[in-house]
Amino acid sequence: MNFADSEILISILKDNGYTSIDDYRNADLILVNTCSIREHAEQRVFNRLNEFISLKKRNPFLKIGIVGCMAERLKEQLLNKVDLVVGPDAYRSLPRLLQEGRGIDTVLSETETYDDIIPVRTDTNGITAFISIMRGCQNYCAYCVVPYTRGRERSRSADTIVGEARTLFEQGYREITLLGQNVNSYHYGSVGFPALMEQVASINSLLRVRFATSHPKDISDELLHVMARYDNICKSIHLPVQHGSNEILKKMNRRYTREWYLDRIAAIKNILPSCTVSTDIIAGFCGETEEDHLQTLSLMREVGYSAAFMFKYSERPDTFAAKHYADDIPEEVKLRRLNEIIALQQELSLASNEREIGLVQEVLVEGTSHRNPEQSYGRTSQNKVVVFDNLPAGSYANIKIIRCTPVTLIG
Ligand code: SAH
Ligand code: SF4
Repeated sequence: MNFADSEILISILKDNGYTSIDDYRNADLILVNTCSIREHAEQRVFNRLNEFISLKKRNPFLKIGIVGCMAERLKEQLLNKVDLVVGPDAYRSLPRLLQEGRGIDTVLSETETYDDIIPVRTDTNGITAFISIMRGCQNYCAYCVVPYTRGRERSRSADTIVGEARTLFEQGYREITLLGQNVNSYHYGSVGFPALMEQVASINSLLRVRFATSHPKDISDELLHVMARYDNICKSIHLPVQHGSNEILKKMNRRYTREWYLDRIAAIKNILPSCTVSTDIIAGFCGETEEDHLQTLSLMREVGYSAAFMFKYSERPDTFAAKHYADDIPEEVKLRRLNEIIALQQELSLASNEREIGLVQEVLVEGTSHRNPEQSYGRTSQNKVVVFDNLPAGSYANIKIIRCTPVTLIG
């Protein structure tokens, strides 16, 4: 999401006469696009910031700004460190604040979607790109800072999304990922997410479509049937479960049970037999017992995730959990449980990859392998990375899978 937001920021700045350069040490403006999701993310920004601030000794004209979620969360507190503080809905104010030399705008909007801004694609392979389609979240999961830093949920018009996707296809892009905090909660006028997916997938059968991140509550049968109808809608779903215990899910305010989630997984396996499912998991949430933790492990096995992002619970100020629950799981217990989750996922990822050996998969070639210039890499519809002998980027190839590691297929 921040990657996509940075492309919007660069576009706004370019329209106002700024250009980007490769070496930040020669810049007159450095913006740090930040994440508040865990304390560790914020700590890394503070460490990096010291390095940027020290550059002011060399260049007294240097302006430093913090943009994104930390700007929204910490507001004025940051002004004693940096010149500009701009929240995720206020990027259009940047040129004005830059003219004033110093300032803050952290007003959250109920309507801002930046839908008229054409992102400047950066750091891209020219084959795959992100399109941001909705912003914000008001689900208020007990642990999560997002509703406070990114404001209310709002969607962008379907016409501008389809237009952006079509332009990308004409420029040679072959895969787009529709992005949103809860991408499948998308709703604009009478167009819901399944209808939007159909519109985007209909642009051209050579344009692959992915989406992230889905909220389990909106993974409807209707959406799964649309996915089944279009070969170019990729068969992989990122469906964060967070936890395997009903007790903890309730405290987290996820508003589904383990059984309800597993029913959605059964629907995916039934309607989309080849589809992989990946997830996010939090270990060591407030009051988590050993039994709760075992429930997470058993759920992981039951689903057989192809991949997972796994985190230790990190208390975020002002969230429901911070106000009402004690962050009472000792650090070493959190860490041990997290490590057990990671070890299990490695096993599941390897098993998921081993099931591919011997199959022929359609791969979109993305570029040359970083390790070996004689080889290319690309991904299968199931979002698995495959390495194989050189082929032109942007082409589709049927690749036979012959070996694998837990993270890569070799074909
Ligand atoms: N909207 C998505 C998730 C977005 S946040 C959803 O609801 O599924 C990305 C991930 O960060 C979450 O899925 C969660 O696993 C993790 N996360 C969020 N807050 C956290 C916290 N306080 N501590 C640890 N992990 C957290
Ligand atoms: Fe955070 Fe929950 Fe919203 Fe996801 S759905 S962004 S976890 S509050």
